Amino acid sequence: MKINVALLAEQVVAAGESDCPRRPLAGIDCTGDFDKKLRYLDKAEVSAYWLYGFRSAEGTMRDIGLLKAAKEKLERLGKEVYICCEPVGHPDPNQKVLPAKGWRYRINCDGTPDYGCADIEEPLVRDLVAATKAFRDAGFKKVFFDDDLRMGNWGTNIMGCFCEACIADFNRRHGARYTREDLLRFVQNPGEHAAICEQWMDFNCEKVTAFMKAVNLPGIQVGIMVMHNGDRKHGVDLPAILQAVPDCLVRVGEGHFDDASFDPAWGKEFLIQSMEMHKAIVKDVTRLYSENTVHPWPNLRPENMAKKFLIEVEHGLRNIMLMPPQLLDAPAYWEAIAAALPQAEAMAGGKGQ
Ligand SMILES: [Zn+2]
Repeated sequence: MKINVALLAEQVVAAGESDCPRRPLAGIDCTGDFDKKLRYLDKAEVSAYWLYGFRSAEGTMRDIGLLKAAKEKLERLGKEVYICCEPVGHPDPNQKVLPAKGWRYRINCDGTPDYGCADIEEPLVRDLVAATKAFRDAGFKKVFFDDDLRMGNWGTNIMGCFCEACIADFNRRHGARYTREDLLRFVQNPGEHAAICEQWMDFNCEKVTAFMKAVNLPGIQVGIMVMHNGDRKHGVDLPAILQAVPDCLVRVGEGHFDDASFDPAWGKEFLIQSMEMHKAIVKDVTRLYSENTVHPWPNLRPENMAKKFLIEVEHGLRNIMLMPPQLLDAPAYWEAIAAALPQAEAMAGGKGQ
C-alpha cells in the first residue's frame, strides 16, 4: 500500500530556500516549516508526493526550477516525487477570461460558455505536451491529469463541446450539416437518436483519448483521474484510453468529498459502485489510485476521510491519493489516517503489501 499526497512546491520549499518565482494560492500556507509538518505525514506513512505542475486556472506551467527544488528536497528525505496537473479546468462562473493564450471555452449545449473550462483542442494540447516534456526532462517519471480532463461536467446527460469549431468539425467528419439546436435535440433524446449520439460521444471521447496519447511521451508514465461515474457521456472512454496508453495510471472511485454526501449509506454505495465500475475496466490494481479529498474545505470530517480510506483499501485500492493542499496544515486528518493504518494494512494483507 502506498499513501500519496498532492501539494504545491511552494508548500515544500520556503521562500528563503529558493529564488525561483513562486505562485502561492490564497488560503494555503506557503511560509515554511515543512519539516515540522512532515512529522504528521510521516506518521501516516506518506511516501509519494505529487506536485502541482500545471493548473488550467493559471494558464501556464508552474516554475520548473521551484518544482525541481521541491523534488530534490523531498528526495533527500527519501520520498518519491511526481507531478499532478489540472489541464482543462473546473466550472467557475468567475473565470470569464481563459488565462492561456489561444485556448477557447468549452461551450455548453445551449451555446453558453462553460466558464472555467477549456475546450480540448490544438493550443491546449500543445501547451500541456510542452509542460509534460519539461517535467520529464526535469526527471519526473509520472504525471497525473486531474479529473477535469473531460468534455462535460458530472451528471447523466450526454455532454461535449458545442462550440462552432467543434460542430463544424463533427459535421465535416460525418458529411452532415447539424446545427447546435439539432445536436441539443439529439443529446436530450438519446433513445430516439442513438446512432448519432454514439457518433457525438465518439467525437468528444476522441479528444480526451488523443490528449492522453499526445502527453504519453517516452520516459514518462501518464495517468488520468476519472470523475465519479465518468464515462463516454463526459468524453471519457476508459477502454479506448487504455488501448491508446496501455500503462496508463487511472484514479477511480470519486465524489463524496463532504460529510453531507459521504455520511448517508447511499453516499458510500455510490462511491463503491463507481470505484468498482472503473476498476473492472482497468483490472490492474497497481495502476489504480483513489481520490480522497476534502471539498469544499473543510467539509469532510477527518474520521470520514479515514473511513473513506478504509473503504478504498477494502475494495482493492493500494494507492491512496490524499488531497487538497490545505491538508498539509491540518494535523487532525493525518492523525485520523495514521490511526486507520493498522486496519488498512491488515486488509491489504499486511504491512508493505
Ligand atoms: Zn469546441
